[in-house]
Amino acid sequence: MAIPLLQAARVGAYIVRQQLAGRKRYPLALMLEPLFRCNLACNGCGKIDYPDPILDLRLSLADCLQAVDESGAPVVSIAGGEPLLHKEMPAIVRGIMARKRFVYLCTNALLLEKKLDQYEPSPYFVWSVHLDGDREMHDHSVSQDGVYERAVAAIRAAKARGFRVNINCTLFNDADPAKVASFFDSLKGIGVDGITVSPGYAYERAPDQAHFLTRGKTRQLFRDILARGDGGRKWDFSQSSLFLSFLAGNQTYHCTPWGNPTRTVFGWQRPCYLLGEGYAASFRELMEDTDWDAYGTGNYEKCADCMVHSGYEATAVADTVRHPLKAMMVNLRGVRTEGAMAPDIALDKQRPAEFNYTREVAIRLDQIGGSKAAAKAGPASQPHVANAEAGGR
Ligand code: SF4
Repeated sequence: MAIPLLQAARVGAYIVRQQLAGRKRYPLALMLEPLFRCNLACNGCGKIDYPDPILDLRLSLADCLQAVDESGAPVVSIAGGEPLLHKEMPAIVRGIMARKRFVYLCTNALLLEKKLDQYEPSPYFVWSVHLDGDREMHDHSVSQDGVYERAVAAIRAAKARGFRVNINCTLFNDADPAKVASFFDSLKGIGVDGITVSPGYAYERAPDQAHFLTRGKTRQLFRDILARGDGGRKWDFSQSSLFLSFLAGNQTYHCTPWGNPTRTVFGWQRPCYLLGEGYAASFRELMEDTDWDAYGTGNYEKCADCMVHSGYEATAVADTVRHPLKAMMVNLRGVRTEGAMAPDIALDKQRPAEFNYTREVAIRLDQIGGSKAAAKAGPASQPHVANAEAGGR
């Protein structure tokens, strides 16, 4: 696994402390989305379909550090939108590392070479570059030619400067297992340290609704990919072996979305990184007042096909802590890619989907209007909506 010893030791110690304290729910990785604005418009992305006044919002440096302190998670994944569009990003990264949290800075890499000077290599810092496959696969995925080449050039430049660089790869139902395996093979040659891979979540606001994977197809796809890489042992994944085993249909897991709580410009997002069903004003409110049993595969229609790491990696890590021998065997032997699959969760009792986008957008636009009026009158009074002028592009 491509997780350095320092990180594995600190995260392991954090998990032991949570277990000893008897905590049933605790975060592993904070998903910090300081903006929704992006400089790409990918077909499978459901994060950027907002009106301009919302895309112009930014979480300030103080908002970001408060979220880090509130959650206490040992890992912070900064996502978006494109985080490198945020002017305060270097200060945000420095502030999080000063707290000895591990930062994964996600980027499509279009601005990476230009901004490299603003960051310093550190054991607490990883570039997580979006790369959905080889040139043909990635440029198709991001709906723009030339992006793969720029991302690879940026990865090489970051490696030359001593940074740790991972890639994050999202797969859809048109993924060819042989091509994905050969793409993973190629990553060592460009210096990539680790791979995070996940099936795409079927975002209701994504432009392309035809290429999302079902659970059955996801399980078979991952078996077909991992079988070409010695059960995954050939490649350096920055994910737990049991999460990969889950993707390949060998584990029946329920999601644990509190493991990756999400702070966006709207507040603390309920219930997870993928679904915006409402927002809490504080991390405590998110953890204590969310009806967690209302979500997850088998409970809610929008969760039916989800197998994304932000919902299930924390489940796999908890399983690893409970069953270290099982995890060790998967590490040693590789992920099983043949034989019967684990039973999947029945969907007959799930509640129907609710569609909240219009309501949430109306609320936020109203708040932004209120913020601007309040800003004219005096000090800002909207704690959960940083206005565009505070940290804009
Ligand atoms: S299954 Fe879990 S992680 Fe996936 S969308 Fe539903 S609540 Fe979120």
